[in-house]
Amino acid sequence: MTRPIRIAVTGPCGSIGYSILFRIAAGDLFGREQPIELRLLARDSPESQAKLKGTMMELSDCAFPLLAEMKGFTDEKQLFDGAECVFLIGAQPRKDGMDRSDLLRANGEIFRRQGRALNEMASRDVRVLVVGNPCNTNAYIAMRNAPDLKRECFSAMMRLDQNRAMARVAEKINAPVSGVEQVFVWGNHSNTMYPDIRFLRYKGHRLADQFDPQWQEEFIKNVATRGGQIIKARGASSAASAASAAIDHMRDWILGSEGMCTMAVPSDGSYGIPEGLVFGFPCLCPGEARYQIINNLPMTPDVRQRLAVTRDELLAEANAVADLLA
Ligand code: NAD
Repeated sequence: MTRPIRIAVTGPCGSIGYSILFRIAAGDLFGREQPIELRLLARDSPESQAKLKGTMMELSDCAFPLLAEMKGFTDEKQLFDGAECVFLIGAQPRKDGMDRSDLLRANGEIFRRQGRALNEMASRDVRVLVVGNPCNTNAYIAMRNAPDLKRECFSAMMRLDQNRAMARVAEKINAPVSGVEQVFVWGNHSNTMYPDIRFLRYKGHRLADQFDPQWQEEFIKNVATRGGQIIKARGASSAASAASAAIDHMRDWILGSEGMCTMAVPSDGSYGIPEGLVFGFPCLCPGEARYQIINNLPMTPDVRQRLAVTRDELLAEANAVADLLA
């Protein structure tokens, strides 16, 4: 039988965690032939441990044939021991009176600690996806605190933004989303992101020229603020769609993507983005857990300006956590 892949998840009992675990265990990540081992983090409190115990009881009751082993931990080093695939979802939510910089620092501490633990304990070929916000900067902090791991081991999630953009295009052209191709999102997972449809195709046919500039501006704003719209409508933040996007991201990264996909990854200097900054880029994944940044797309002054805005926001975030970087 194939050896199980060791998967570690933080925040497993939060809204996203509770949705992603059952899909991973059902085979949505690595397919129906690949057994998996789940390692799950509970915080060091009786409530958190009880919640994890209940979640693990439910996972067990699903009798998933692919779930070869499952363990709970409170210690991050033990959690990451030999981990090959890591979802960093757990993060402190913004509390009353906290501004973005307070949140950045509160979560920065978590991701510094987890970066160090990954550095010491994870497989040298680990693939880490940071979902917990502010995800780009959290991934940057974790990466900078893991100097013995290749920086290509780290990424942050902007696939939900890409999926949202694809869904809005499909609605606009009144066609199934499965034919929508070459949509991706640049920059930070925040309101400054730039969803780019200049190269959009539907089933191989160029479409981008058909949209008027006013619709395009509304589209960009709509994608960037979709998270807030969901909170308003549902009274809770995106959870199942975020879990689904996290699976899309990790599956494409490890097994290969069909076409372009958005990944926030450490910049290699492409498009003038400072090296190392975790920035949303259009990527291709050839398989075997590799990705390539597509680095030759044409730029216009307008696009350069949009990229500069989101780059500057990420630089300011990195600056605010400079003392947390190794
Ligand atoms: P949630 O509040 O339901 O769950 C968060 C989990 O994090 C909880 O299990 C909690 O125990 C854990 N946690 C809290 N403080 C912690 C700490 N100090 N150390 C370790 N774990 C801690 O949140 P959720 O809806 O599951 O969202 C999780 C994160 O994902 C949030 O930061 C959210 O903003 C982010 N998110 C990102 C995207 C994206 O596209 N990148 C989309 C949606 C949500």
